[in-house]
Amino acid sequence: MRHVDVLIIGGGPAGISAAIWCKRLGIDCLLLEEQSQLGGQLFNIFNEIVDYPGMRTKNGIEMQREMVKHFVEMDCLYEVNTKVLFIDERSKTVKVKKQAKKQEICYTYLILATGSSQRKLGVSGEQQMIDRGEVYSASADGERLKGKTVAIIGGGDRAFEGAHLLSSKAKEVYLIHRSTRFKAREQYVERVISNPGIKVMTDTEVTAIHGNRHVTSIDLESKNKEYKNLLVDAVLIRLGVAPNVDLIKGKVATAQNGLIVTDDVHQSSNPFIYAIGDACTTPLFSSISSSAGQGTIVAKHISSLLTES
Ligand SMILES: Cc1cc2nc3c(=O)[nH]c(=O)nc-3n(C[C@H](O)[C@H](O)[C@H](O)COP(=O)(O)OP(=O)(O)OC[C@H]3O[C@@H](n4cnc5c(N)ncnc54)[C@H](O)[C@@H]3O)c2cc1C
Repeated sequence: MRHVDVLIIGGGPAGISAAIWCKRLGIDCLLLEEQSQLGGQLFNIFNEIVDYPGMRTKNGIEMQREMVKHFVEMDCLYEVNTKVLFIDERSKTVKVKKQAKKQEICYTYLILATGSSQRKLGVSGEQQMIDRGEVYSASADGERLKGKTVAIIGGGDRAFEGAHLLSSKAKEVYLIHRSTRFKAREQYVERVISNPGIKVMTDTEVTAIHGNRHVTSIDLESKNKEYKNLLVDAVLIRLGVAPNVDLIKGKVATAQNGLIVTDDVHQSSNPFIYAIGDACTTPLFSSISSSAGQGTIVAKHISSLLTES
């Protein structure tokens, strides 16, 4: 069976950074990524990235290109299209699937850099909408949504920012939230509430999304049990993110919000398993730079352990 000293699961900014540092420190390391390309959430960033020191890019894809170029130039070992299906923490082995082939890899230390994913509504019609490619970015898809009726679901910054951005393009914008309290910043809320082009519906939940070839309407249910079908052309779900931790559930300590609990060197409750990036960072504090920084910490720490042993 193949053995590596450090196995990294996830090729987003956290995993890429950890792998670069492992390479630099001379550690035998392999990174596995289930998608066909490294980069993680960088592929979903359509806005300019202005907060990463020394690298200002016009979107996430440009940053992905730079990071992967650096990673490849460093000769880091990695495999894409490779999904980790199971972690056996007792035998320190993972089961992976690459296309149809399954294999096992043994590790001394495991780094979970599995990131986070957008939360879903969990209603009928939602997955079909996603599978049809009806997934929009408020900043990049203004032209695609021009003259359309758009529903944005959520009460956080991204929901409010999206509503504001689209109000100058779309025919109508509905911002629908299940409570009357918003997590969004006060200035975002004020900007939306005072915008006559945006209809804010509170205490209202979306219970279904309809449409065969494209979205045509959504079903709504209010807190006081009023039901309504609203004709819309597009739905943007902005419910925040959840850490990708299914793989490790029950094997290391996780907090109530699902995040992997780690100490200051990113070690989990299992001394051979570490977590970095969005898998262990509250969304309020998650960022490309903090993910990269955590990758550095964990690689340096593991290097010291490997040197001692
Ligand atoms: C729209 C948007 C805009 C953003 N804008 C900014 C910004 O301007 N500035 C900023 O600093 N941050 C921004 N962020 C946040 C930033 O992108 C994240 O904090 C960062 O990408 C987290 O990096 P990560 O490596 O922890 O996780 P991710 O980027 O989520 O990468 C995790 C990787 O792990 C892989 N993976 C998961 N499970 C498995 C498995 N079982 N097997 C193999 N691979 C697996 C995934 O496929 C993925 O590639 C933004 C995020 C979004 C969504």
